Amino acid sequence: MAAEVLVLVEHAGGEPDELSLQALALARAYADGLGGAVSALLIGRGAAGAAGGLGAHGAALALVAEHEALEDDTRFAPDAWAASLCELIARRSPAAVVAAGSDRGNEVLARAAARLDQPMAANCLAAAAVGEGARVTRLRWGGSLLEEAELDGVPALLTVAPHAVAAQRLDAAAAAAVESFTPALREEDLRVAVRERVAAPGGGVSLADADVVVSGGRGVGSAEGFAAIEELAALLGGAVGCSRAVTMAGWRPHSDQVGQTGTKIAPELYIPCGISGATQHMAGCKGAKHLLAVNPDPEAPILASADYAVIGDLHEVVPAINAAIRKAREAR
Ligand SMILES: Cc1cc2nc3c(=O)[nH]c(=O)nc-3n(C[C@H](O)[C@H](O)[C@H](O)COP(=O)(O)OP(=O)(O)OC[C@H]3O[C@@H](n4cnc5c(N)ncnc54)[C@H](O)[C@@H]3O)c2cc1C
Repeated sequence: MAAEVLVLVEHAGGEPDELSLQALALARAYADGLGGAVSALLIGRGAAGAAGGLGAHGAALALVAEHEALEDDTRFAPDAWAASLCELIARRSPAAVVAAGSDRGNEVLARAAARLDQPMAANCLAAAAVGEGARVTRLRWGGSLLEEAELDGVPALLTVAPHAVAAQRLDAAAAAAVESFTPALREEDLRVAVRERVAAPGGGVSLADADVVVSGGRGVGSAEGFAAIEELAALLGGAVGCSRAVTMAGWRPHSDQVGQTGTKIAPELYIPCGISGATQHMAGCKGAKHLLAVNPDPEAPILASADYAVIGDLHEVVPAINAAIRKAREAR
């Protein structure tokens, strides 16, 4: 069996994405089990800049796809990425192909799997080669159960559950060899592409990357009720999130939703206000280092996951916290 594990590495501003570094860590373990090496595929503007530093994360080789249709990252074309990936798979016969469990990683690997007529396992926590396939442990049902599964066929196609595997820095001095190639893209590979990007209102720190997230749930009561939550997030330099009850009510856009069908977050501090703690919500905030719940119901399920709780009405508690922070800052 081939002993290479190929990782699709997403990047921005010349830096690899954190979720891709987590995918590299899982790939490194998979390759170690085979006595093999990790290589990386990078696509789009800035790829070459992000490529060399991947040696510190265990990649021996970084392959940069160069093509004018791939250059503009804001016009992401998932089939063109899948075609580039499949071209490398045909050429290098890796034992496994790994991507981050991001929207992009999951989409590209699903398209590659369809092209190769191969199974793909999403949301993996661990994986190892077994015979002509792989054994994976992956999150199912919004993280409420772990599935042990076997994948038939080579290469094994896997995405890594966000924030479930720690990124590793193995040797800060190690540099990956960098090679570029020009994938043979067809017109139909570019048929599906992002045409326009609309910045989220307010801009600021993104929900997925924020160190502090303040979320509101049904208990907020209205779109206007989010004013105090927005203020707390701003005072703490964080982002605003919400539960699905809120997006279903139309109080906030879906891009703010935390959970199984929303964004997966891993902040230092998560402050859910007026959120009961349904499994599907908790699936999105399991990675939070500390959780401070605000809820008047001492029996609310969210309290089982909370490090700290204020048992009270968010309409009183959150403005009081905001006032205390403002006062403390004025006193400085
Ligand atoms: C397939 C599927 C996918 C889903 N995906 C997601 C997802 O990604 N994210 C998600 O969030 N949900 C998701 N859900 C929905 C999830 O099951 C819950 O319905 C939802 O999370 C409930 O939102 P909530 O906690 O805001 O509302 P509720 O469960 O109604 O809880 C409201 C809470 O507010 C508290 N409260 C009331 N008044 C106040 C007040 N004045 N001050 C403070 N607290 C107050 C209450 O005590 C209660 O605990 C999904 C469901 C399904 C079936």
